[in-house]
Amino acid sequence: MTTSLFDKFDTILNNFSQLPEGDGNPFTVSMEKVISQTEAVINGRHTVLAGTNNYMGMTFNQDCISAAHAALDEQGTGTTGSRVLNGTYSSHNALEETLKEFYGTEHAMVFSTGYQANLGVIATLAGPKDYILIDADSHASIYDGCAMGNATVIRFRHNDAADLDKKLKRLDPDAGKLVVVEGIYSMLGDQAPLAELAAISKKHSAAILVDEAHSIGVFGATGRGVAQEQGVEDQIDFIVGTFSKSVGTIGGYCVSNHPKFEVLRLVCRPYMFTASLPPSVVASAQTALKIIVENNQLREQIITNSIQLNKGLDQVGFDMGTTGKSPIAAIKIESKETAIAFWGEMLKEGVYVNLALPPATPQNLNLLRCSLSAAHTSAQIDFMLQKFKLVGERLGVLPAADASGMPLSCEAEETNQSQQVSDVSAATG
Ligand code: PMP
Repeated sequence: MTTSLFDKFDTILNNFSQLPEGDGNPFTVSMEKVISQTEAVINGRHTVLAGTNNYMGMTFNQDCISAAHAALDEQGTGTTGSRVLNGTYSSHNALEETLKEFYGTEHAMVFSTGYQANLGVIATLAGPKDYILIDADSHASIYDGCAMGNATVIRFRHNDAADLDKKLKRLDPDAGKLVVVEGIYSMLGDQAPLAELAAISKKHSAAILVDEAHSIGVFGATGRGVAQEQGVEDQIDFIVGTFSKSVGTIGGYCVSNHPKFEVLRLVCRPYMFTASLPPSVVASAQTALKIIVENNQLREQIITNSIQLNKGLDQVGFDMGTTGKSPIAAIKIESKETAIAFWGEMLKEGVYVNLALPPATPQNLNLLRCSLSAAHTSAQIDFMLQKFKLVGERLGVLPAADASGMPLSCEAEETNQSQQVSDVSAATG
């Protein structure tokens, strides 16, 4: 080899080689057979899926599947072209109409992924003389959108409206400014204080974009996300989202009421220079959006499920990063090695969770992250709880249990709780 192009990856390769081989490696997991929204066969084992972002359980919704089948039969497997050439079918336009109805906005643009929606909107809107102000805990697609554009990028402290105010104050009042935040942050499941952030943005004549990737479907009276939940939709200039979580398929979008929004179709490279979504995906996304609007029961269920898991983990003594009022549950683990081992043991016990490590996490936390689904049963969540407790004790993350299975240091109330957990999960196991 004559080139040193790959030398810069040596540290990463070295770190990777230290991970356990085979089943214990979190980066090589494959679902050998998908059984349902909440179960799969992994490493030959029947496994409960506790980290899929399949919040509404739409991947196996029969109406979505039927719509996708019909579109596949009628329109074929793919569009083989970009939205601006041969890749706009009437179904893409219809999906954009559905998004406009869903959000009550004048404009909607569909991208091939949520990642591309962020890349495209952020990099295109903010040009060379403009400023982008992003929350420090922003998703990679937001950082990459900033890197792709030519604007000056400024980070403000996570969910800190006062810090945003301070940073906006320093800028030329006439410069173009775009503030980018997320409705729900994916690692710790916390909500952005959108009213404050929007008010500060308006005070400094900055536009505000909210990425609702983890909140569409779950929050707001009709599932429009955190802006709807907090009653501030009229203060938000752009909402970006994805079809890859609650909507149960793939794709991204941006909605807005800005009168010049449609020009993006002519200047936004991640929209123009990639193939459009296949018709089957368009059909299932459109069907899922219609189901999500109407289905409050799914919204209630996902929050009920999340509270059950977060509360249960908290009660057995884990150091929680999440509170339960979001579809995410995350346990903080002190050392990276323990987090990796914990993840592997959970998989062996039949529960798949996400392992999230720095630099992908806020505050350099090592996290075992779960994302709940409305499709999870209470018994499945009890099963997760039982396994978390078992592995937590085995690895010394929780106090060890005595021979009766009771934690040695627990008070009576906690003892009752752990008893309940093992009783219910015994029925599932
Ligand atoms: N934004 C956020 C906050 C996300 O978490 C993700 C995906 N994890 C995306 C955007 C990208 O979405 P997609 O999967 O549609 O590319």
